[in-house]
Amino acid sequence: MLTLGPDPLHDPEWDQDEFIRRVTASRSYLAVLLMKQDIVDGVGNVYRAEVLFRQRLNPWLPGTDLAPAPAGRLWRDIASVMADGVQQGRIITTRVPDRSSAAFPVPPAEAHYVYKRVGLPCRICGTNIALAELAGRNLYWCPGCQGPFPG
Ligand SMILES: [Zn+2]
Repeated sequence: MLTLGPDPLHDPEWDQDEFIRRVTASRSYLAVLLMKQDIVDGVGNVYRAEVLFRQRLNPWLPGTDLAPAPAGRLWRDIASVMADGVQQGRIITTRVPDRSSAAFPVPPAEAHYVYKRVGLPCRICGTNIALAELAGRNLYWCPGCQGPFPG
């Protein structure tokens, strides 16, 4: 029986296998799966976009096409950025070398890679960040780093 999914903040090591098992068993898009509470609990729209970018994963990749190793890396990255968010009291997903300034506290405009950055150049490859609607929510991604919209 599937109830609530693995909680990245509770016990990252123990829950990783269950996350891998559930994600790689589903044909749904990764961007859809990360918003499902029976797959992973508490990710939300900002972390969804940011962790898929950080892992250079196409949001429209079916879960069944994701190998266990990258699924594990995705899980550990989710756990890492969510733990940082709790500690910092805000969502900052950019790594220091990828920001255009070393200002601290991190300015809001430097906090994310793709979320709410549609039309702005990617911090890594310079491609304009794209926007699509998926499952009723805005999804941001970099077509250069993560691949194109399918079809
Ligand atoms: Zn890019």
